[in-house]
Amino acid sequence: MTPPQDDVGFPLHLVREDLRDFAGYSSARTSAPTGIPSRIWLNANESGVASSADADGSARRYPDPQPAALVEAFADLWATTPDRVVVGRGSDEAIELLVRSLCRPGGDAVVVTSPTFGMYAVSARLHGVPVIEVPQVDDELRWRVDTAGVAAAARESGARVVFLASPGNPTGSVVPLREVAALADELADQAVVVVDEAYGEFAAQRSAVTLLEEHPTLVVLRTLSKAHALAGARVGIALAHPDLVSVLRRVQAPYPLPTPVTELALRALGESGLEATGSHVGDVLRLRDQVGRWLRDLDGIRTVYASEANFFLVRCDDPDALLHTLGAAGIVVRDMRHLPRLQDALRITIGTGPEMEALRAALSTPPTTTEENPA
Ligand SMILES: *Cc1c(COP(=O)(O)O)cnc(C)c1O
Repeated sequence: MTPPQDDVGFPLHLVREDLRDFAGYSSARTSAPTGIPSRIWLNANESGVASSADADGSARRYPDPQPAALVEAFADLWATTPDRVVVGRGSDEAIELLVRSLCRPGGDAVVVTSPTFGMYAVSARLHGVPVIEVPQVDDELRWRVDTAGVAAAARESGARVVFLASPGNPTGSVVPLREVAALADELADQAVVVVDEAYGEFAAQRSAVTLLEEHPTLVVLRTLSKAHALAGARVGIALAHPDLVSVLRRVQAPYPLPTPVTELALRALGESGLEATGSHVGDVLRLRDQVGRWLRDLDGIRTVYASEANFFLVRCDDPDALLHTLGAAGIVVRDMRHLPRLQDALRITIGTGPEMEALRAALSTPPTTTEENPA
């Protein structure tokens, strides 16, 4: 039985019953007294002096669990309020928090649309939760998520979470917003629909963030790892209904973001940081057009899927030979052949202009077969 819900509330019965009133870890930061301004902090067993490696002592204290300035910067960027933001260690952590908060270990299921990003299944598996795969439709030009199939699979399996990557990895295609909205509504009494927009900056379609207010069971993931060029910093966010945000924060580790990382992320989200990212994205989009054109003309490459991301998924006649040629030129691409229906596929990231020239030069040299060149 589904309890009655009003239009804008988050249905808390989607949260694991045993976690609904779980308070999480009470850290020294969040339990500090308020009222009289505190001057002397002796409550967290931190060092009284700065490390010699940390000139300004900014890392001497435990950080805020959710650094206010960073949460606000993300809220501003997405034209939403701070209570809809959870910051964490990459979208990977957000994926894990969602699975752990919503699925009973060994009980509920997660639905993914294959081929897709591997972390959804990894998080589910580590939590003992079955993963239901709904194949995407491959029309040789692009991939399409079968949202009707997703809804049916979610119903049948009693899933609590649906993961859609849009643009998808490795497919490069987006799920139309109206289909995302319809799916979220259709499953609203049973499952949360997560739209992972790791490559959103490269897509023409607007962000699903614009749907959040009207669809309380929708969650959007964004990251600094791709367009913002900070994969090594490990910063990602979940944008969600405030009631779900408060659950995710309680399930999260006490101090997810190291202070130097927060400082770096704040610089990236400052005015000049965002401007530089915007111009870098423009460069990638121009390169994507060019590279797409010459890739399609190359002998040995059969299919180049349309891409709304910063990579191409290609099918080739002889993947071994192609990988060998690229390897000999010192160029590394992602071998996708371990995935079902991708036994002839490679994924190629759009790098810099000179890197793309080097790729083109390597791929334009007459093909060598693996027999002639035993590696
Ligand atoms: C790269 C990628 C991410 C990024 O994960 P982070 O943990 O934020 O680095 C998330 N989702 C998809 C689909 C990706 O391809």
